[in-house]
Amino acid sequence: MPRPRPLSRRSLIGGAATLGISLAASGCSIPTGGTTPSGGGASASASKPGTPTPTSTQTRSPTPTTPTPAGPLAVLPDAREGDALAAPLIVKGLPLINRNHPVSKAFAPAVAGDYQLIPEADKAFGAMVAAAKKAGRAIVWRVGYRSYATQTELSANPPTAYGDDADRFVAKPGQSEHQAGLAVDVASKSGTGTRFPTTKEFAWLRANAHTYGFILRYPDGKTEITGYHYEPWHYRYVGVDAAAAFGPNSTLTLEEYLGGR
Ligand SMILES: [Zn+2]
Repeated sequence: MPRPRPLSRRSLIGGAATLGISLAASGCSIPTGGTTPSGGGASASASKPGTPTPTSTQTRSPTPTTPTPAGPLAVLPDAREGDALAAPLIVKGLPLINRNHPVSKAFAPAVAGDYQLIPEADKAFGAMVAAAKKAGRAIVWRVGYRSYATQTELSANPPTAYGDDADRFVAKPGQSEHQAGLAVDVASKSGTGTRFPTTKEFAWLRANAHTYGFILRYPDGKTEITGYHYEPWHYRYVGVDAAAAFGPNSTLTLEEYLGGR
């Protein structure tokens, strides 16, 4: 399988050295030849942090094979305009950034730490990586925060492997949760991009990420809702309370959880 090299590796990444990984950093995006990622795998014995056990049983089938129709999910009301776009829309206490609810270039939250996320998310991601490591799963961090300017460059020069479909993988400036310091792209040494679902790291994340407050943001078959193709590498921090409603191996989207898109 050819492994196209992502074009964009601007100055986005700082803290990668801690994971000892090379930064062939992608956009949100490490396209490879694989085309049939399988759904979430089984869980290894996961070391759980001191977070509450999820109480919700609202979980979908872990192996979706057919696309879910968009259904009646309406566009959420959003009265922001002008200067108000310097902060994301907040729904049920959670920032929502997508095609319908962008932010302006003025939105630049303080990010810090090894993973270039807002502090709470950075700490949670660090704990998740450490727990995975204990379980023998080496999660590779690729990118956290991306500025509006970087997103502008990336969307203007998406990885060629996406072809005409790049808009379904790469967000327009102002429409990426990476700009919020809440999204992180990951990989495994044994598989990146569309091949990531074949790895032990992917299975572990699918089974355990929610206990650290992370959700798979663009599940398979939910393009009509999220506006993006399946991105097995892209996780979004929502906090443990919200993530508990998603549970393990969830294919629920944030939009469905919030009741609108
Ligand atoms: Zn991403």
